[in-house]
Amino acid sequence: MHDTLLHSADAGWHLEHSYAQLPSLFHSEAEPAQAPRPNLTIFNHPLAKSLGLKAEVLDTANAADIFASNRLPDGAKPLAQAYAGHQYGHFTTLGDGRALLLGEQITPDGQRFDIQFKGSGPTEYSRRGDGLAGLGPMLREYIISEAMHALGIPTTRSLAVATTGVTIFRQTRQPGAVLTRVAASHIRVGTFEWAAAHQDKVALKALADYTISRHYPNLTGEKEPYLAFLQAVIERQARLIAQWLHVGFIHGVMNTDNMALSGETIDYGPCAFMNAYDPATVFSSIDHQGRYAYDNQAPIAQWNLARLAETLLPLLHPEDKQAIELANTALESFRSHFDQIWLAGMRKKLGLFNEEAADKALVDDLLETMRLHQADFTNTFRALSTPERTLPIAALKTWHEQWTVRLTRQPQTAVEVTQRMQANNPAFIPRNHKVEEALTAAVEHQDLNIMKRLLTVLATPYDHSVDLPEYSTPETEGAEDYRTYCGT
Ligand code: AMP
Ligand code: MG
Repeated sequence: MHDTLLHSADAGWHLEHSYAQLPSLFHSEAEPAQAPRPNLTIFNHPLAKSLGLKAEVLDTANAADIFASNRLPDGAKPLAQAYAGHQYGHFTTLGDGRALLLGEQITPDGQRFDIQFKGSGPTEYSRRGDGLAGLGPMLREYIISEAMHALGIPTTRSLAVATTGVTIFRQTRQPGAVLTRVAASHIRVGTFEWAAAHQDKVALKALADYTISRHYPNLTGEKEPYLAFLQAVIERQARLIAQWLHVGFIHGVMNTDNMALSGETIDYGPCAFMNAYDPATVFSSIDHQGRYAYDNQAPIAQWNLARLAETLLPLLHPEDKQAIELANTALESFRSHFDQIWLAGMRKKLGLFNEEAADKALVDDLLETMRLHQADFTNTFRALSTPERTLPIAALKTWHEQWTVRLTRQPQTAVEVTQRMQANNPAFIPRNHKVEEALTAAVEHQDLNIMKRLLTVLATPYDHSVDLPEYSTPETEGAEDYRTYCGT
């Protein structure tokens, strides 16, 4: 017996399909796989509410039928999106191999969000993959994406995870699961690379116009809209990467297919947060060269943006040479945008309101001492953010004195400094061992309580009024050996 309420507008579903209007090059029809024993593992109430969805109807056992992809909400028209991408520097064609776009949910305040199933079975783009996803990795994406959201960093979000009753095979056997992902859109640098690879200028222009109207609507009237668009994407990515660095986030697989034009963080695979500060930190088991290391994320973003710029050349200028010049000038601005946003954020982390030329050196000095002494990134800033300005480690004594003097050269009060610091230095990040503990309980023991407790802590990361050492102490052993996995 199907509960028809669940699927209807009564549950708040209001799906539109603007992406489907793009040329057929960009999508193909797809059907979700049937789940023999659907079970709703977790459902995101605040996110549902902001989307106009009724949690009281959808967070129910029957709703597992929807979120395990058995029966689609009314108005859904599932499609798989086509894209290409540079993976570890090598061009390849890809596409949604295990995902489906149901449509775009229109929220009560008129915003448009993609509703996507991830792990819902094979599509035209699955190549040799099974189109499925494991419960562990889908819950991991749920935890980290919701943590990123609470940290104030643009990100796709996670509405629900449901198991399907199918066992999938990776390094180990895993319960199969579907993640319902919510995104400003799933248009990637790789989507543009797909159009360019087909040398289809009409499709390319349609995609660019669509992306501008969806994510950069203020540019529609510009004299040179495509150049302005490239510039705006560059600025958004510069801001995003700077924000990652401010909280110690390492994406882990910044292939061009995992870079969203909306400026949201997307595709949580082998990502993780750094403990001890080391700019060379890499967690991904396959990133042997450190291509996607913490400190390489800005240069890699710029590299990825160069791939985007190449696709846009035919729209930038009829003459190749001029088009390339325009693109290069735009690309060169990435570093200055990034540096400026990064330093502005670091000033906030140190409670600085005004600007002095020596601030960059003050920040660099702090980071270098932290690196030499393997100081925990989050907890160092957290200690400095206390009203007492606690000295995090003895090696920072001289630096601390300089900083204290620097703080006197601005008019703000001590209370204002503390407020600014606590609002910009998280007390809580998803510690790797806490994430693993939550996943083990959920996947191996069907116990969601540990994950739910973790999510509650991560929902208010800037709350410095609570002391929860269990969630803020880095693991004592094995931190350097923590490894994350792709293709999960
Ligand atoms: P990702 O590493 O998640 O960014 O995925 C890279 C590409 O591989 C995308 O085109 C995915 O759709 C595809 N892919 C990943 N896992 C699977 C799978 N199990 N079955 C089919 N395609 C997959
Ligand atoms: Mg991807």
